Amino acid sequence: MNLHKPNYNEFFIQMEHKWLKSWYEKGTVKKYLHKNDSSSKRFSFQDGPITANNPMGVHHAWGRTYKDLWQKFHNLLGEKQRFQNGFDCQGLWVEVEVEKELGLRSKKDIENLVPGDKFASIAKFVKLCRDRVLKYSAIQTDQSKRLGYFMDWDHSYFTMSDDNNYMIWHFLKKCYANGWIYKGQESVPWCPRCETAISQHEMLTEDYKEVVHESIYFELPIIGKKDEYLLVWTTTPWTIPANIAVAVSVKLEYSLVEGTTGDKFWIAKDLVKTVFGKDYKRIIKTVNGKELVGVKYSGPFDDLLAVSKVAKENSEKFHIVIATDENILPISTEEGTGLVHTAVSAGTEDFKLGKKYGLPMIPVILDDASYMNGLGFLSGKNAKKHPELILNHLKERDEKGENWVFKIERYKHRYPGCWRCKTELVWKVADEWYIAMDQKSDNRTLRQRMIDVAKSIKWMPEFGLDRELDWLKNMHDWLISKKNRYWGLALPIYECKKCGHFEVIGSKEELKKRAVKGWDKFKRHTPHKPYIDEVVIKCLKCGEEVHRTLDVGNPWLDAGIVPYSTIKDNNQGEPLYLENNEEWKKWFPVDFITESFPGQFKNWFYAMIAMSTVLEDTNPFKTVLGFATLLGEDGRPMHKSWGNSIAFHEGADEIGVDVMRWMYARHNPAENLLFGHKRANEVRRQFYLLLWNIFKFYRDYSVIDKYTVQRHAELGSASNNGSRNPLRSEASKFGMTNILDQWILSLFAQTETTVKQSLMKYDIQTASLNIEQFVSDFSTWYIRRSRDRVGPSAEDKDSKNNFYEVTYFVLKNFSIILSPFMPFITEEIYTTLTNKESVHLTSWPKIELEIDQKLIADMLLVREVAESGHRVRKELKIKVRQPLASITITLPKEKHFIDKKNQREYDILLQDELNVKEVKYKVGKKDIEVEYDTKITAELQLEGDVRDLLRSIQQKRKELGVQISELVKLVIPKKFEKFGEMIKRQVNANSIGIGEEMKVEKNI
Ligand SMILES: [Zn+2]
Ligand SMILES: [Zn+2]
Repeated sequence: MNLHKPNYNEFFIQMEHKWLKSWYEKGTVKKYLHKNDSSSKRFSFQDGPITANNPMGVHHAWGRTYKDLWQKFHNLLGEKQRFQNGFDCQGLWVEVEVEKELGLRSKKDIENLVPGDKFASIAKFVKLCRDRVLKYSAIQTDQSKRLGYFMDWDHSYFTMSDDNNYMIWHFLKKCYANGWIYKGQESVPWCPRCETAISQHEMLTEDYKEVVHESIYFELPIIGKKDEYLLVWTTTPWTIPANIAVAVSVKLEYSLVEGTTGDKFWIAKDLVKTVFGKDYKRIIKTVNGKELVGVKYSGPFDDLLAVSKVAKENSEKFHIVIATDENILPISTEEGTGLVHTAVSAGTEDFKLGKKYGLPMIPVILDDASYMNGLGFLSGKNAKKHPELILNHLKERDEKGENWVFKIERYKHRYPGCWRCKTELVWKVADEWYIAMDQKSDNRTLRQRMIDVAKSIKWMPEFGLDRELDWLKNMHDWLISKKNRYWGLALPIYECKKCGHFEVIGSKEELKKRAVKGWDKFKRHTPHKPYIDEVVIKCLKCGEEVHRTLDVGNPWLDAGIVPYSTIKDNNQGEPLYLENNEEWKKWFPVDFITESFPGQFKNWFYAMIAMSTVLEDTNPFKTVLGFATLLGEDGRPMHKSWGNSIAFHEGADEIGVDVMRWMYARHNPAENLLFGHKRANEVRRQFYLLLWNIFKFYRDYSVIDKYTVQRHAELGSASNNGSRNPLRSEASKFGMTNILDQWILSLFAQTETTVKQSLMKYDIQTASLNIEQFVSDFSTWYIRRSRDRVGPSAEDKDSKNNFYEVTYFVLKNFSIILSPFMPFITEEIYTTLTNKESVHLTSWPKIELEIDQKLIADMLLVREVAESGHRVRKELKIKVRQPLASITITLPKEKHFIDKKNQREYDILLQDELNVKEVKYKVGKKDIEVEYDTKITAELQLEGDVRDLLRSIQQKRKELGVQISELVKLVIPKKFEKFGEMIKRQVNANSIGIGEEMKVEKNI
């Protein structure tokens, strides 16, 4: 049983399904998509592709609500749009899921999927990846439809398409022409499970986890000194065989400490106490770090082949103390020993120091983090999985009388894992391909150009620009290759093994022209592994046959290119960028994108800017609305095991899509959104049901009162292009004299203006909160104070008519402006009122009403007074049904009614609301004060009793199941006799008798 599922909600969920079915069956969505085809105005939205790898979550629904909302809004404004949805298809995320499904554990397993046939295995694996994308893109499409998201679902773009992949080739070719593509050797973060480099872009803070590792303080004997050691600390003991140098800081003092056994250790002066405590004899001397520079030492693995080989070839720069470069590796005295183990091949800073000082390196691990050949007993064993290998080995040697281990300690720190499979990363030297950020072409580097482009974009929230610039100013070159992977962009880089010359191929046609072998095997396939690698070209320099580099591309290339690859005529055919540039420019730069910002400054926003800067030296989008992260109601990330997780389908069919969409809409995008059933219930109660009940009140009573929509109410509608609004010009003629009618019309006009202006500025929260306020005012004041104007007992025909006319006008137009936010309930309201096909096929209303600011301000004061009046009545414990003779309202000087001509109307509203015969005023000091004349005369008492009686009769009618329009037979006590006619009318009775007790009977 699901406790979250209140029954009354069932009705609304079914209503949503009813419309969903109708929209697709009756072709409403199609009409919507093509509604503005001939318009000269355009709104260009570019969808950031959703990863088609799993079902959609409620966090996806947040962004997709924004996307739909602005497209629906601009559709109402009559602008032509593309309505193109996108799926992100290629990359490690899909591979990892397919591996999981198949129970594969490594690269070897993948390449043996068809036993003994590597080519067929890769072909099969790639096909399974594609199949997974197709499966989940279909599921996500259905889910998006359920969200009420109107898109050209038959023509979504897929980043695995030929168009997308070849457009990236086109981009890379241009980078190559600018001299920006290069192969570099670097120590890169590396996932030993996925066997591939993790680019700096992919290392997000959330992938750092607090973990405990065994750290070691180890002793390195100084050559030429007896019993004198460098004391060095590391948290990654597996890298000790790769040690080349020990770094010290010339800003620090180092002490030589004599330990309890007589051995002497060098350590930063400030760390003596931390490391030794009281367990040392004395400090022999203290010197500046520079005195240690040049000292040479021995290491524990010097006799391993790979180590001794490097030692022999680089005797000058091997196992030597160096002064650190503080910009690369600052040395602190917060932890460790102040002497830093430098393994050039196995750390980013180590690598940079090595480069700066020309140090050699000892590569020690293979792609899966197992030790390489030449490392003796270590070779073939996994360095990352078995850190104890090194520790145990050193301990054993100590037992045999050597001195290596000073102490081993468990150490808690934040350590990065693979963003996809969570395996802890290692650092490894690898040859990778990069796009250079600081290489000039036409006198400007890519970094400089991108910074200018980023500044030309409107970032929302505003801190987005700073975050993007921060990234752009500090990022390394863009690592675009991924080794050992299968399902991705085939990097079109062809490097000659013989002479080293490399080229980038820019299109399928170019490849065909250059192919000397394998074209036939490839030509009918998409540009993916393994088929693409059948094609062989000839080196332009030396004539040697050249194969493609086997790497795939960084997946952010796939998403970054989309403004170039996906803008097509009717979302079909060839990309306009290359086919019809004039037409393409009508959509580019795109007006608007919106995505969750954590991560995207480094990823999608970055990739889009980079690629557009290279191709057109301009911004790919004009405005970006970023939004934060969706969390569970308890403020924690959603996790199934924590019970705070809600799947999309569960949210949709328990909360309802309209309510979900409103939760997103009313939120400040810059802040994390807490999402759950409790909050959904609040939104439903405070907004959704309020609106529904207004509509229901109108609908039910207009039937009872047989009201038919009048021509002028209908004319004041949206489709009435530009013609004057009768409500405005002829208000008096139609007897629109009721102050409430004038007020709600003004208020609605004001709301419409604010909502439109806010949406134009992409300020969704202001728009939403204004709408909420309006609905609250509409319900709790306009409808509340107008209840007596309708129904069988209401006598004033004009007033009744005006109420319907005004409510119809407001509700109908309000349903239009709300339709981008909540597509289902607004459809129900709009179509019920108008009998037209769909609110989504109409236009934004032209509300040509004057906004009477004085009236709006005055009514606010009326309501403030009413609130005080109710509060005081409560304190006095006199219920509102009991009429009182008068109320005296004391208003401070600065608070008064502006529009004196309405004073009488305001007083009547207050008399009715507070049930008093007279309203009097006084001028006072600070706050609003009210005072009742509490003397209840016999006459007032009787009037109060009549009210009680009326209430009891109405209650009885309800209990008997009598409809509002049905008549009843009534018996009332004698003392109410003189009110008989009034009572009869008020409760819709056709006969009234006098008796001992009140009686109500169904009139059969
Ligand atoms: Zn991994
Ligand atoms: Zn060559």
